[in-house]
Amino acid sequence: MKEHIVKPLIPEEKVEERICKLAAEINRDYGDTPLHLVGILRGSVPFLWSLARNLKMPVTMDFISCSSYGSGTSSSGSVRLHKDLEESIEGRHVLVIEDIIDTGNTLSYLIELLKARKPASLKIAALLDKPSRRTRKDISVDYECFEIPDEFVVGYGLDYDQRYRNLPYIAYVEFV
Ligand code: IMP
Ligand code: MG
Repeated sequence: MKEHIVKPLIPEEKVEERICKLAAEINRDYGDTPLHLVGILRGSVPFLWSLARNLKMPVTMDFISCSSYGSGTSSSGSVRLHKDLEESIEGRHVLVIEDIIDTGNTLSYLIELLKARKPASLKIAALLDKPSRRTRKDISVDYECFEIPDEFVVGYGLDYDQRYRNLPYIAYVEFV
């Protein structure tokens, strides 16, 4: 790990408030339709929980794990599946929960994988979006909390070499 300083970017209250608003939007859009949340491990866990606790329809959850990042701060480009879903998604309304969309490689891979399993619908919710870094122009995010500039961020599930996932707010990393 390079020498670095972690500086606050989005405070906890602001994150929670924004997630609540997003949940209200999802509640409006889906009504009473059961929703199956697919969390991408490990970064989406805090976001998934904050969102799920504010959803009103019947909610189920499953998790998938894949990565396009090595141990540093830049994408390796190719995506590996580490852990598959435990349940079938055929005929279900699926909402994929992602911590951050950077190049879009991870989601592009996952969406292709999940679409082939014939869900009734498939949408994407992301806590953060770095649109300036997007190389996959085919990716559109249905629900997103914050657009951020091209900074490496941690906290609220996001890590730098597996650290800082437990910060209750979003911070950026300054390399010194
Ligand atoms: P993508 O495939 O390039 O869109 O990268 C998505 C994944 O890279 C996310 O799920 C994160 O795990 C990781 N990632 C991208 N940007 C950041 C960042 O600023 N901080 C921490 N992890 C990041
Ligand atoms: Mg990561």
